[in-house]
Amino acid sequence: MNVNNDIWLNDLKRKREQGPTLHKESYSQYSDATKAVHAGQYNDPITGALGTPIFQCSTFHLNESSYKAIEEGRGREKMIYSRYGNPSQWSVQEKVSSLEGAESSIVFSSGMAAISSAILAILDKGSHLVSSRDIYGGTYNFLYEDLYRYGMSVTFTSPTDIDAIEAAIQENTKVLYFEALTNPLLKLTPLKELVALGKKYNLRVIIDNTFLTPFNVKPLELGVDLVVNSATKYLNGHSDLIGGTASGSRKLIDRIWPQMLKNGGSMDPHACFLLERSLKTFALRMRTHNENALQIARYLEAHEKIKRVYYPGLASHEQHDLAKSQLNGKYSGMISFEIDGGNMNAHKLLSHLKLPKEATSLGGVESLISLPYNTSQASLTKDQQKAIGINEGLIRLSVGIEDLEDLISDFEQALNNVFK
Ligand SMILES: *Cc1c(COP(=O)(O)O)cnc(C)c1O
Repeated sequence: MNVNNDIWLNDLKRKREQGPTLHKESYSQYSDATKAVHAGQYNDPITGALGTPIFQCSTFHLNESSYKAIEEGRGREKMIYSRYGNPSQWSVQEKVSSLEGAESSIVFSSGMAAISSAILAILDKGSHLVSSRDIYGGTYNFLYEDLYRYGMSVTFTSPTDIDAIEAAIQENTKVLYFEALTNPLLKLTPLKELVALGKKYNLRVIIDNTFLTPFNVKPLELGVDLVVNSATKYLNGHSDLIGGTASGSRKLIDRIWPQMLKNGGSMDPHACFLLERSLKTFALRMRTHNENALQIARYLEAHEKIKRVYYPGLASHEQHDLAKSQLNGKYSGMISFEIDGGNMNAHKLLSHLKLPKEATSLGGVESLISLPYNTSQASLTKDQQKAIGINEGLIRLSVGIEDLEDLISDFEQALNNVFK
């Protein structure tokens, strides 16, 4: 098929610099742990205060240069009004860009604000997007229920089968939208092949990297055009705010910015402060999430009452080879597993566990555990759940940064209690 998309996205009309930015230092030569601490931090030159203040203001003094920027459509580069931009946003955006290896980023009031704004900014009326059913429920609902209202359309296909994805591409397709690691069965989207498909048909590739984060894989470095994250999860990591990010080329992010203004999902300065502060320990946290999860996945797989464990770091994972090459040994902090005795025993296990808290969401310092059949996949019928592999007794665990031995002992006592 010959898809003839126009070149609007690659046709750079105006020279753009990295940003918006508060200072000139670049941390690009450093590793993630260093970037996480230093990049984007704004140290106040007047008081000498170390660390980014919370700029709790809705508006800013206007001057010649702000008027000029507004007139020339460069409002994103100046402080004008906090929905447009705010130093607290710029600071954390820069840290996120540094970690993603992005030219530019925007922070949003939620992951869904980032996702919906990005998609609406990139699709035109009449255009089509290819995605999969293995995506976050909120995203699925947005694509399924809302795109058609804007005269846009979507096809849902497999996240793992490149041939099926290619077959879903139409003449009006503009975007391939997938998650790097899916919920709850932890399927991997083959990013390099997806990018090659995007190149072949001149499509934009958007990846939701919430389950992996840039610590485990940097999709932009593999040629993905845009990365979105729910910052509510690992990026913030403390289960105390809702936020989202979008990162990519300056040109693409400049295109998403006006959509953010219209939809109104900008991030509040106080949430920016919390996110930037939390990101300082990002590398430490992610290292521990990854290491704990691998060991707990091994422990569960060896347990006679656990029927099956889904974890990309296990040789039993269907895409373990892809996981090895794509994730570089960093397999994420998420595990799903099936317990003997179906949902009844799954509920029992949750009630006997002392450390993992029974809650939806993921990526916090505390372990969180839930049953997909009555949380993330609750809107599906039993048959639909079965069809996508949500079997009886499936449990989803977001492994926290607690002591590994404590977590394993807790699972040991809880499993002993269920099967005594
Ligand atoms: C939670 C989540 C979202 C939505 O993020 P919010 O911050 O809750 O709006 C999107 N994608 C994935 C993969 C998620 O886990």
